[in-house]
Amino acid sequence: MFDSPARILVVDDDITNIKILSGLLKTEGEIRHAIDGSQGLSIVREWGPDLVLLDMEMPGMNGFEVCSALRDRGEDAPAVPPAVIFVTAHSGAETEVAALRAGAVDFISKPFQPEIVLARVSAHLTIKRQADLLRRLAAIDPLTGLANRRAFDQHLEEEWRRACRTGDTLALIMADVDHFKRFNDRYGHPAGDQCLRSVGAVLLLNSRRPGDLVARYGGEEFAVILPGLSMPQATCHAERLCEAVRGLDAAAITADTATRVTLSLGVAVRHCDPSLPPHDLVAMADRALYRAKEAGRDGFQLAEESLLPGGHRG
Ligand code: GH3
Ligand code: MG
Ligand code: MG
Ligand code: MG
Repeated sequence: MFDSPARILVVDDDITNIKILSGLLKTEGEIRHAIDGSQGLSIVREWGPDLVLLDMEMPGMNGFEVCSALRDRGEDAPAVPPAVIFVTAHSGAETEVAALRAGAVDFISKPFQPEIVLARVSAHLTIKRQADLLRRLAAIDPLTGLANRRAFDQHLEEEWRRACRTGDTLALIMADVDHFKRFNDRYGHPAGDQCLRSVGAVLLLNSRRPGDLVARYGGEEFAVILPGLSMPQATCHAERLCEAVRGLDAAAITADTATRVTLSLGVAVRHCDPSLPPHDLVAMADRALYRAKEAGRDGFQLAEESLLPGGHRG
């Protein structure tokens, strides 16, 4: 059901506990350990475990502090936080409730029974990985495999906030397949679907820098988020996308060598202003896209408001 082994991190200041738990859980996945809270947090950031078995009493950061740091969704936090199980000699309703309130999914008292630990870890791993799978599916457009509208909105929001912080530019290209109704009418919807998949693949292949996101915005419309692109760079990018789609082998989809698939694009670039909603950028790109249609399609237009001194990205 899952494509890679589960990742389990054991955080405990007692090396004997680490050894026992690691030995016990080795059939459940890949195990790493940390001997204090801050080491645990850095392993979480680098490695992105599915599950953390967390001791409560440790010198330096205690388990509660680690747990609350894990819930802190800062810049370097892993995209998906791990599930946390406290494993501790503390017992009693109060501690257990506090652990669950702190965000843990379970609580195991020491001394523990190995088979119970194993069974609980296994159950929580299944839940965690099912949740991850749902989260991934919820962000994907099933037809093209690209980011869907929900993932687009979220990424735009994140990149907008980042750009506001760093002062970098944020570029957005809205792209719409030209005369796509005609394409469907002529070749049928299955061919139309294949065409959308091919266009999506071409956009993705050409927009792969860190932070870039290609989404199916809806219907036959795509959106490309390009953090840090200046106006000249975004213009080049739009040109490249138009050309790449023109180069699509439509005959492979339609068996008709005369068919051409083309896109109209609207390009918007902005320095972010925290007082503006990120979707202003979408409205800007949309208006430019409309002008690209009016100008005869198979081309791009720049949003007027975009004409600003551009930033660069490395
Ligand atoms: P324009 O150049 O002005 O954009 O013309 P157009 O024909 O592309 O625009 P219009 O909005 O009239 O038609 C869009 C078409 O896209 C109609 C709709 O059936 C088709 N479409 C939207 N989503 C899908 C899809 O998932 N699969 C297929 N095959 N067609 C789709
Ligand atoms: Mg301890
Ligand atoms: Mg459209
Ligand atoms: Mg269209």
